[in-house]
Amino acid sequence: NMASKNSYRIASVPGDGIGTEVVSATIQVVEKLAKTLGTFKIDFEHIPWGTEYYKQTGRYVSEDYLDTLRKYDAVLFGAVGSPDVPDHISLWGLLLAIRGPLQLYANVRPVRTFPGTKCPLNTATDGIDWMLVRENSEGEYAGQGGRSHVGQQWEVATEVAVFTRVGVERIMRFAFETARSRPRKLLTVVTKSNSMRNGMVLWDEVAATVANDFPDVKWDKMLVDAMTVRMVAKPGSIDTIVGTNLHMDILSDLAAALAGSIGVAPSSNLDPTRKNPSLFEPVHGSAFDITGKGVANPVATFWSAAEMLIWIGEKDAASKLMGCVERVCAAGILTPDLGGTSDTQGVVDAVCLEVEKLG
Ligand code: ATP
Ligand code: MG
Repeated sequence: NMASKNSYRIASVPGDGIGTEVVSATIQVVEKLAKTLGTFKIDFEHIPWGTEYYKQTGRYVSEDYLDTLRKYDAVLFGAVGSPDVPDHISLWGLLLAIRGPLQLYANVRPVRTFPGTKCPLNTATDGIDWMLVRENSEGEYAGQGGRSHVGQQWEVATEVAVFTRVGVERIMRFAFETARSRPRKLLTVVTKSNSMRNGMVLWDEVAATVANDFPDVKWDKMLVDAMTVRMVAKPGSIDTIVGTNLHMDILSDLAAALAGSIGVAPSSNLDPTRKNPSLFEPVHGSAFDITGKGVANPVATFWSAAEMLIWIGEKDAASKLMGCVERVCAAGILTPDLGGTSDTQGVVDAVCLEVEKLG
């Protein structure tokens, strides 16, 4: 029944470097999926923001960019950054200019050992299947602080971490809900409340309060230093993790390395209130060393698109897509970063063939 089809509009912002290659690869695959399954309709509309746009207009995004984005159900983002523009200009010009005003306060990264990637741990009995939740709007990266007596022997620089009860409570609630939605219903709250006695103690207190509303979720607290040890030594004891902007920045890189490769790591920037469209992107950047060679691994962006499908309400299509991607990887059709000999389009074609078999 065509009339009852779920129909979605997605803003496609490929950005720079391999961002354009992996987003175009992903659109091919998702369009094929929608056409084959016939259970939903999806339109990707191309938005040309990025470094070329900046060089022509002096801005990374259009002046009405927030209104533009609010017309869509979600944003599929590639990467931003170019060797000839300082990173803090490109990053604040595009990605951070979206995250803040749209209040995408939950950064969510699923981490799993993936067919074709080599996990550096011996996980024969102890596999990795984690969900990392990073507070994405305040904390150590609030930009509060300053410098006095610059260059003098007695110079002082402060970098103040800002934690608000509202900010901590909303990410904590989101993390408990995430943990509840997963089979093991297990959450670890990461802090450093032994040596930081204000903000981190607030985190502990809020965790204990919010936990009362989730009697079915098992949770524990862990200091961030001890958590690095647990991730390496006892990966099977972990399911969902929540922590601050800085702590989860570091732990999510560790997690990506433990799972095998940055070329497969996806990320969601969510507005859990659903007032604004959420943004989905691979963890990796624009990677100019391989741009134009056609060898970028598109799997991180496929997976990001699957997370996007789940978020907009197409869970079944998402798991079918991931099934196809996993079968292609398990068959050894891999890009060079995973030790394979395929190029980006080779992986796209193989996944599209798998998708066709769903029809
Ligand atoms: P950014 O500055 O935004 O972090 P970057 O250009 O430094 O971007 P990274 O994403 O940090 O690139 O990736 C580091 C290296 O890993 C790249 O230079 C590239 O060689 C490799 N790499 C990253 N993503 C991929 C991918 N999708 N496929 C293959 N190799 C990748
Ligand atoms: Mg980098």
